[in-house]
Amino acid sequence: MNKQISRLRDLPAVDLVLRELEQLVEACGHERVTDAVRAELKILRDSISAGSNVEEESLLDHIVNAVKVRIDMSMKNSFMPVFNLTGTVLHTNLGRAVLPKSALDAVVRVSQSASNLEYDLEQGKRSDRDSHIEKLICELSGAEAATVVNNNAAAVLLTLNTLANQKEVPVSRGELVEIGGSFRMPEIITSAGCVLKEIGTTNRTHLKDYASAINENTAILLKVHTSNYRIEGFVSEVQESELAQLAEDNNLPFVIDLGSGNLVDLKSYGLPDEPTVGQVLEMGADLITFSGDKLLGGPQCGIIAGRKELIEKIKQNPLKRALRLDKMTLAALVEVLRLYQNPGQLQESLPTLAHLTRPVEQIQTQAERIAAKLAPLVSQDYQVTTTECTSQVGSGTLPTETIPSYGLSINGKDNSDQSLRKFSAVMRSLPTPVIGRIHSGSYLLDLRCLDKESEFIAQLDLLVEALS
Ligand SMILES: *Cc1c(COP(=O)(O)O)cnc(C)c1O
Repeated sequence: MNKQISRLRDLPAVDLVLRELEQLVEACGHERVTDAVRAELKILRDSISAGSNVEEESLLDHIVNAVKVRIDMSMKNSFMPVFNLTGTVLHTNLGRAVLPKSALDAVVRVSQSASNLEYDLEQGKRSDRDSHIEKLICELSGAEAATVVNNNAAAVLLTLNTLANQKEVPVSRGELVEIGGSFRMPEIITSAGCVLKEIGTTNRTHLKDYASAINENTAILLKVHTSNYRIEGFVSEVQESELAQLAEDNNLPFVIDLGSGNLVDLKSYGLPDEPTVGQVLEMGADLITFSGDKLLGGPQCGIIAGRKELIEKIKQNPLKRALRLDKMTLAALVEVLRLYQNPGQLQESLPTLAHLTRPVEQIQTQAERIAAKLAPLVSQDYQVTTTECTSQVGSGTLPTETIPSYGLSINGKDNSDQSLRKFSAVMRSLPTPVIGRIHSGSYLLDLRCLDKESEFIAQLDLLVEALS
């Protein structure tokens, strides 16, 4: 029988344990390691106090190892790349748009030394950080002026607060959307200091509803792109051009929250049609707001574009300072916008567009290659087949449109949900975690966004042990 420790004072002293951990102390600091030792000793003390016996043999080794694991875990960077095989190209939880290499290079370039972020090199004096993107946005959209903030939610907040603080904003009941839980149109309007005036009904809102809502307290007319849902059937909404006219007749700015603004005609890439930022401005919007990391394919940011005098007002709002972009995001955005100056290359140069337009035959061939590698590795308990599937754009963009795709369908030979959940958990535990989805009784990997195929295949060998 092993000897058992049943008395607290038989536990090793902190210093004794620390003596075994000299290298770790050197690497991670005395305080961090001491804290970890104390935490492990407390676990043992609690368990002895609770009446359990602790084996004395190799107790010191046990504590030393537990401390090493604890420090390892606490020093691990939890923020890491994953394979997005969910079929949702712009997945908010997985970081939305994948950035092009040129944008990443630009981030490094301007961050590892000083830069002319807010400095005019010609005049030798202070300038505006927006100057780096404003001309580009105007060139690509036809807008007179533009500015940029942290995300589209911030763009909407800032625009409303600047133009309609303490004033009324009529919005169609059909457009009071919620985007991803924390962004709800009514709450943003209220947070911006505005008074929401709901007009029309969920399915039908007419021009006369807007017209009769306008009074001396009305500040703007607002249209919200209902990006993430569609109402079908007996529906009616007011066209942008009609609202623009009504706004002009009443001397009010007409603002559109476009959600996912796209700068190029998606139809020419075989994707569902959506008006471009330029087209929406032509329809008569005075200001539009849209995200940088949705269809635009750039870093997280929110762009406001439109009439110069309104943009100037927005730039002077003290909130702009709180919502401004940092230099790294700005550097990435500039590079992404520069890619749009060469639209013939965009499909290759912009990962979001490359993913959205990848030919299904190419994805199918890839699925066959990977299935041939994966199937034998897991054949004891799982069946792997290639399958057609459908991808979606994601981030509330073109919600009812699907894109034909191809992938792998994995089923447990025992047909149980538990096997699927286990497979899914093991895929998430790989060095570069793989995120798929469980879809009609199978674990599905949509390969549309898999561009690092050899890296993906290289870690599959680890499945054998992980699944056993
Ligand atoms: C996505 C979206 C937002 C929020 O944009 P973020 O860039 O995620 O802050 C706001 N309005 C609409 C209509 C959207 O689609």
